[in-house]
Amino acid sequence: MATHDKRYVIIGNGIAGTTAAETLRKLDPNCSIHLITNEPYPLYNRVSLPRFLQGVLPEQKVMIRDFAWHEQRRICLLTETLVTAVNTDERVVVTESGQHFPYDALLIASGGWAKPLQVPGAAGTKHIYNFVTLDDTKTII
Ligand SMILES: Cc1cc2nc3c(=O)[nH]c(=O)nc-3n(C[C@H](O)[C@H](O)[C@H](O)COP(=O)(O)OP(=O)(O)OC[C@H]3O[C@@H](n4cnc5c(N)ncnc54)[C@H](O)[C@@H]3O)c2cc1C
Repeated sequence: MATHDKRYVIIGNGIAGTTAAETLRKLDPNCSIHLITNEPYPLYNRVSLPRFLQGVLPEQKVMIRDFAWHEQRRICLLTETLVTAVNTDERVVVTESGQHFPYDALLIASGGWAKPLQVPGAAGTKHIYNFVTLDDTKTII
């Protein structure tokens, strides 16, 4: 049977997913690593968002990694890419746009999410926001 370098796919580029990618690269210089996020940014500090909202911290101080950091480590970062399915029989991750990413090992580091407010009157009411992402914060600002 032909052997190949190990293929890792990580869903979510928060602190968990990005640290896992960094660690994998340190341990295995030859593996392929796809790090997939539906957000448009490399890793940023979610814990800093309240201070960014307050205007105490500029956006650049919220960012932890940039795209070059991933390139230097040959971590293939795919932003604005929503994973919609995982086929565990065939070991393939599928994205909204129909891309397929085969894997030998998969990490789902998709974090947590806030549910939309579900109380009478909330549906369709403007200016009700979640406060989870950098883009949420920019919208609130
Ligand atoms: C405003 C705010 C303040 C906080 N303050 C603190 C604090 O003071 N102290 C503390 O300990 N914790 C704090 N937290 C919590 C902390 O930020 C989280 O515990 C931490 O970010 C979790 O990291 P993670 O890597 O597991 O997931 P996340 O940071 O949530 O990253 C997961 C990523 O996966 C992406 N993703 C999810 N589903 C998909 C999909 N299907 N396809 C592609 N991408 C996907 C998400 O968009 C996200 O980018 C705070 C959180 C928020 C929102």
